[in-house]
Amino acid sequence: FMLLTKKLIEVRNVLKSIDHNDTLKLPSIVVIGSQSSGKSSVLEAIVGHEFLPKGHNMVTRRPIELTLIHTPHSKEEYGEFPSLGLGKVTNFKKIQQTLMDLNMAVPESECVSSKPIELRIYSPNVPDLTMIDLPGYIQITSKNQPLTLKEKIAELCEKYIQEPNIILAVCAADVDLANSEALRSSRKVDPLGLRTIGVITKMDLVEPDRGVALLKNSDYPLHLGYIGVVCKAPSGNGNSNIIQTVLRSEDAFFRGSYQYSQRGVHVGTGTLRRKLMDVLEENMGSNLGSIVKAVQRELDETRYQFKVEYNDQRMSAESYVADSVDKLKHQFKDFTKAFGRPQVKSEIRHMLEQRMLDICAQRYWSDPRIRELSQLDSSATSEEDRLYWDLQLELSSSALTKSGVGRQTTQRVVDILSRTMELLSEAEPFNNHPEAQEKIKTMTHEILSSRSQATADQVENTIKPFKYEVECTDGEWTEGVKRAVSLVQTELEMCEEALSKIKTTVGQKKLRKAINYVIEMDREEARRAERKEAALKLRTLHHQQQRRFLESETLPMSSEEGEGQGSSSDDVNESVVSMDGEETEVEDELEAAIRPHYNPKLLNKAREALALRDRALILKYRLSALKSKTCKSSKNKTQCPEAFLAVVSEKLAYTSVMFIQVELMNEFVFQLPRLMDARLGVKMGQEAMERFARENPVVGRHLALMDKRMKLEEVWEKLNYLVRRQEEARSRRW
Ligand code: GDP
Repeated sequence: FMLLTKKLIEVRNVLKSIDHNDTLKLPSIVVIGSQSSGKSSVLEAIVGHEFLPKGHNMVTRRPIELTLIHTPHSKEEYGEFPSLGLGKVTNFKKIQQTLMDLNMAVPESECVSSKPIELRIYSPNVPDLTMIDLPGYIQITSKNQPLTLKEKIAELCEKYIQEPNIILAVCAADVDLANSEALRSSRKVDPLGLRTIGVITKMDLVEPDRGVALLKNSDYPLHLGYIGVVCKAPSGNGNSNIIQTVLRSEDAFFRGSYQYSQRGVHVGTGTLRRKLMDVLEENMGSNLGSIVKAVQRELDETRYQFKVEYNDQRMSAESYVADSVDKLKHQFKDFTKAFGRPQVKSEIRHMLEQRMLDICAQRYWSDPRIRELSQLDSSATSEEDRLYWDLQLELSSSALTKSGVGRQTTQRVVDILSRTMELLSEAEPFNNHPEAQEKIKTMTHEILSSRSQATADQVENTIKPFKYEVECTDGEWTEGVKRAVSLVQTELEMCEEALSKIKTTVGQKKLRKAINYVIEMDREEARRAERKEAALKLRTLHHQQQRRFLESETLPMSSEEGEGQGSSSDDVNESVVSMDGEETEVEDELEAAIRPHYNPKLLNKAREALALRDRALILKYRLSALKSKTCKSSKNKTQCPEAFLAVVSEKLAYTSVMFIQVELMNEFVFQLPRLMDARLGVKMGQEAMERFARENPVVGRHLALMDKRMKLEEVWEKLNYLVRRQEEARSRRW
């Protein structure tokens, strides 16, 4: 019938999970006493198990908040550390060890910590109680303990013995009560002993008369009185059920002396238990009103906050997950709409055209004979020249078709898709969810990599014929010319732009001077090379003459000697070359000395500008060629390579896109949303959804506030029920 305590303990646990600064307080029983006064023994006798850490080295360093939960319908007894997440601990030795470890984790230098250890014990044999075990008061500090330790412990205890808690002041019978630190402290906060119970331990150590005198204590009267206990196991006991033995021997002890059966003398652990339950229940009852008020206030505030901040909008992890996935799917859909076949095609065409321009630059625009190309038709053209340009076109075309079009075009689309998904995963709402972002990347990768090889192969297969021959209709040709013109035009514009950029950065005049200088130097260089070549020719000629002369003079020699002769003439030759080299070096040095000093960077710019100017000239020339009559017909494709290659690019693009669309894009668009559902959506399970939702701080706060409101409402219901019952009980008494 200790319903109030039980319900309020439940309430307390709920409140604890939402309110971390303890504004909603419910009374607990706080156990204080000097070291070795028998505190642990009493607590264990109440619980019925040995579970507290034992030892001489200050084993209680943190408060232990012990919640006893009476479970009448279950035989099972177990402990739980809610903040450790160990689950049920059925072995009490394990509980003891865990408490020991937690206490010992407080460093020696600090000795005590105010951070409580939470422990719940579920058993049919315990009453519903909440008790707090505190470090024992110490008299003297030992060598390696800080001087302030005594004060630290006293401070910690003082914090806990405040209202509305009930104080269990433990004193040993064999120590003068005048010296009891526990009584001294409790008197400070509760002078009349209205909420202090005195527990006199070790009653077996004093004569019964003295014992009775202690319990009837008139020096330090307590409103709630004193209870005497004996909590020591008789020595030589097997440890099977030590507490039962303790309780039995205590019972025997008090029965053994008639003095303890007097009226007004309270002894025995059983009596203590009942007393604790009564006092706590009563205390809870008298506190009910203030708890109700506090909860009401908190609930009102939470509701108000919920209204103001969230406009009463409910939210759940599940709905957030579903929304997030929906958003992603929408974004993805928008993307696939915007990135359809025409866009894929333009991407691929662009890529192939860039490749085509590279080939033109390499095979045509930097060919010194490029200007011959438009004269190709004139009768003056030799067959050899004709062949040369036909071959150039063939080589260019196959450079384009055999450049791994399948792999490259597929990869291009794969890259675009991967990058897009990466961007989507980094945008709202997934920017808050790194784990999910990874998942999005992974599934994108999975789908794409499973398709890309096959797609590339398909594309490569279908373009195979173009590797040997590309036929084109008149319409295709006209298109090709048009695009070639526009491409070359763009290329020309880029070229001119780059040139004018150099002009503005370097300065018109300065650049012109530098260019002239470079041209002069190049001419000089060319002249020198010419001279060198002439000299070399001359010397070789001379040498040959000399050799011929020697050969005609001497008799035929054996082959061995002949070789020897040969090698020696090589020597001569080499020395001639090296001498010549030396000469040029000297010349270079001389020239460097008289040359005006130009910044090498400037000279580079000048060279760059020169190259751009030349390229622009060639492009202009090609542009007019492409626009000329010659290029109106595909028969003259040799003279119009840009147009022909544009036709080839277009054909390659068309074919590639067809397969990429079917094999890669369609598959991707089909599979990805399904994977999103499977891996990111509500199928991932409640716990994962909660975790996901809380990764978003805004959602996390919303959920936390909703959770708080829900719990407070639950608590409020419980409290109301209790208040009603209390009123009913009261009216019955009337
Ligand atoms: P704590 O330091 O206050 O927790 O005290 P303990 O419960 O560890 O007890 C200190 C010592 O007193 C231990 O050696 C216990 O065996 C002994 N002790 C505890 N209760 C009694 C008792 O009722 N009678 C006797 N004779 N010794 C006791």
